[in-house]
Amino acid sequence: MCGIIGYVGFQDSTEIIIEGLKRLEYRGYDSAGIAVIPEKGSLEIRREVGKLKNLEKELLLHPIKGSTGIGHTRWATHGKPTIYNAHPHSDESGKLVVIHNGIIENYIEIKEELAKKYEFKSETDTEVLAHLINDNYSGDLYEAVQKSLQRVRGAYAIVVIHADHPNLLVAAKTASPLIVALGENENFVASDVPAILNHTRNIVYLEDGELVVLSKEKAEFYNLDGDKIEKKVSKIEWNITAAEKGGYEHFMLKEIHEQPSSMAHSMTGRISETEGKIYLDEIGLDVAEIKSFNRITILACGTSYYAGLVAKYYIEKLAKIPVDVDYASEYRYREPFSDEKTLVIGISQSGETADTLIAAREAKKRK
Ligand code: GLU
Repeated sequence: MCGIIGYVGFQDSTEIIIEGLKRLEYRGYDSAGIAVIPEKGSLEIRREVGKLKNLEKELLLHPIKGSTGIGHTRWATHGKPTIYNAHPHSDESGKLVVIHNGIIENYIEIKEELAKKYEFKSETDTEVLAHLINDNYSGDLYEAVQKSLQRVRGAYAIVVIHADHPNLLVAAKTASPLIVALGENENFVASDVPAILNHTRNIVYLEDGELVVLSKEKAEFYNLDGDKIEKKVSKIEWNITAAEKGGYEHFMLKEIHEQPSSMAHSMTGRISETEGKIYLDEIGLDVAEIKSFNRITILACGTSYYAGLVAKYYIEKLAKIPVDVDYASEYRYREPFSDEKTLVIGISQSGETADTLIAAREAKKRK
């Protein structure tokens, strides 16, 4: 899902951005990055793979300072979790940078066209946005973003900054979450309310197909056709913990209610209705390999185990392959049957469940 935060105001943005990204950590991520427009000199970017503390270390070694900035925690969909694929992504001049949550479904077609003019440095779908917006840019950043988004299909929450407009953030969303938060002489955008709740309680919820142009003094809202629109400001009465629970009494309730949207988000961009195809490139198995499996073992613990039981139901029904769901903690102490025709799938919500990681290693040993 990833996390996004943008700041324009009178304070140093770095600390606000890092703190905001920490509040969005619950969304999951594999790398993180930040871009800041300094008072003097060119736009600065820092990116690191792994936890936010790696980015913090990098910022201690090579600090950046400026009162306009954006930050991102990436959960890779297109391209491995590497520094070069981490956001923000910039145009060729390095003056324009973009962060993005979601998937640009028609990025290949846009990339093929733009690669004739610009050098691409990452494997991401996101990078096309940086070059496309730059390609449409002739002095007005909002206009360039608005025009570019007319060409883009898919799910996105994006924030764009440009070194020539140090008091400006342009952000937009379709099918990925983005809120605008209004302060005193400072304004924010973020994926979710907890990221900014230490600074202001005045929130505008962006709807799909809406853009915002933010300076420290004001916020102007538009639709994708470029018409100005009025938006309602809501006041958040909850505290941070309640905000993290999204208005639900318990995290578990929130997660239960989020299941349809989490499911939709993780499938967005992986299903092409027009081609009737499913894209699961990151899995690294080709069709012949997938067809060679005659049984499937799912390894998981806790709620992931229950997710595995749901998967068993669907896989057996649709693929007609027998599925066992095993507690990862038991698997490692048994002598489970497994060979090169067995597909083993490990599920872990945090990606760090020790029993599941060890069980997956055990399965690898059995090929
Ligand atoms: N699709 C983009 C990427 O792979 C954004 C992923 C995200 O939402 O974090 O870089």
